[in-house]
Amino acid sequence: MLDKAMTIPVLCYHSVNITGVSYECNDHVALAEDLRMLSRYGFQLLSPLTLVRALRGEKNLASGKYACITFDDGADLDYYGYDHPDAGFVKSFQDILEQSSWCHDADPVAPLTASFVIVSPQARKELTVSCFFGQDLIRDTWWRECAQKGVIGIANHSWDHTHDTLVQVRQKENHKGSFYKIDTYQDADAQIRAAQDYLCRTIGDFAMPLFAYPYGHAPSYLVEEYFPSFEQEHRQLAAFGLAPEPVTRDANIWNLPRYVCGKHWQSPRGFEKILKDCAS
Ligand SMILES: [Zn+2]
Repeated sequence: MLDKAMTIPVLCYHSVNITGVSYECNDHVALAEDLRMLSRYGFQLLSPLTLVRALRGEKNLASGKYACITFDDGADLDYYGYDHPDAGFVKSFQDILEQSSWCHDADPVAPLTASFVIVSPQARKELTVSCFFGQDLIRDTWWRECAQKGVIGIANHSWDHTHDTLVQVRQKENHKGSFYKIDTYQDADAQIRAAQDYLCRTIGDFAMPLFAYPYGHAPSYLVEEYFPSFEQEHRQLAAFGLAPEPVTRDANIWNLPRYVCGKHWQSPRGFEKILKDCAS
């Protein structure tokens, strides 16, 4: 259970968001700085899976100030450092977390953070060309090794993100660029259950039972029908959207809010305001 008064910010970063070396144009710089601020403000990092289990009444959380960290899209830069043409060498999210004061909490059963990955190999192959300038930066080769370390767990960000640069997406009319169009059982099954099956085949028990809506789009069919009615099939315990507010005890488990770096805050000051709002 979550204490009635608890307000827990869930933060979201994208490891490909790099256009320079300063906080506002580099999610790696922002993450490192934000981890220090979380520590200064007395927050503890909570595994997103532990948060979900507490919301589902399966676990009690001791009182305290908590924050969760998540990463979207599953680029290699989550796990591997990268020599960026404009920003120089960029440390991976994994390295930043490992070198922070939080790493002693690593746990493969309830990883410290979650990386929501685009699962389809074909989609990732096409994204390599359309979004990564032909560089092979969205592979699945690191998923297992990463998950085993317990710092970044691997979770479900749909089969193909209905990404608008793909030739074919798993949507009945091949509608791209919106996850709101996933509004039938067949499409939901192809985007969510099939993605979880692939994750389980690839990394076994390390596949986290958590979903994040592409673009933060949470169609009412998924929130109200598919997720609550077909738990045995999709095997997810919660789904995360992108509403900028903290998670509370009354949050909808099938559309949990998250704050996105670069969108909902752009500076240490903006981040501080979120922490203060959550703590008040
Ligand atoms: Zn995404």
